[in-house]
Amino acid sequence: MTAFLELEGVEARYGPVQALHGISLQVPEGEIVAVLGANGAGKTTTLRAVSGTVRHSGRITFAGKPLRGGPEAVARAGIAHVPEGRGTFTELTVTENLRLGAYVRRERNLGPDIERVSQWFPWIPDRADQAAGTLSGGEQQMLAVARALMARPRLLMLDEPSLGLAPMVVREIFRIVRELNQQEGLTVLVVEQDARIALQSASSAYVLEVGRVAVSGPSLELTENESVRRSYLGY
Ligand code: ATP
Repeated sequence: MTAFLELEGVEARYGPVQALHGISLQVPEGEIVAVLGANGAGKTTTLRAVSGTVRHSGRITFAGKPLRGGPEAVARAGIAHVPEGRGTFTELTVTENLRLGAYVRRERNLGPDIERVSQWFPWIPDRADQAAGTLSGGEQQMLAVARALMARPRLLMLDEPSLGLAPMVVREIFRIVRELNQQEGLTVLVVEQDARIALQSASSAYVLEVGRVAVSGPSLELTENESVRRSYLGY
């Protein structure tokens, strides 16, 4: 299968700190791909390089074309990024957050889209006018995903959706992501420290260590890889 998103030799730095030392990875269309690794390995920076929020060198192509420009150009190309910490606007209502998710589409009548994303998150209509900051952590993470879906992305990038959430909530979020992938064919690139849940959902994964890909392959293979098991799965 040809890659939908492809990174080749991507390097990025924050001032004197080189965060990525030549990352190459491929995300095939219609699949879920995970990026795993310890704190500081470069997972977040990899997503930032794709979304144009950190300067990088190397090649990034999306749907057969070089991906250039800042966050707005990347969003217009069809990539939605749910950042670490979710990026919800806590003072705004649930509906206002959802509407912001669609800003690149220049569509005024967003009712049908809000209905569409509410099918995935049935609690949304009841909370439409509630300030996002008053939702539970799990609901805020779900709202962040729902807001990203409002852009009708072709690729959804999720940065550590499990952060600070109870295991049951994490399982529910990954279940919804898998269903979006299976039922709508949504391609997903997910960064996760919880290797176990990520490998259960993704078809393939990349393990980063200090800004480099240390090991990659089909999820099943990685769950059987002894060093991955010991370092990231804890058995
Ligand atoms: P985490 O799970 O902790 O977010 P990560 O794998 O996502 O880790 P990155 O956040 O991409 O890792 O960080 C990669 C490297 O870049 C680390 O050494 C980190 O300290 C450094 N770094 C990240 N953001 C900045 C920044 N804004 N300024 C300076 N250095 C940074």
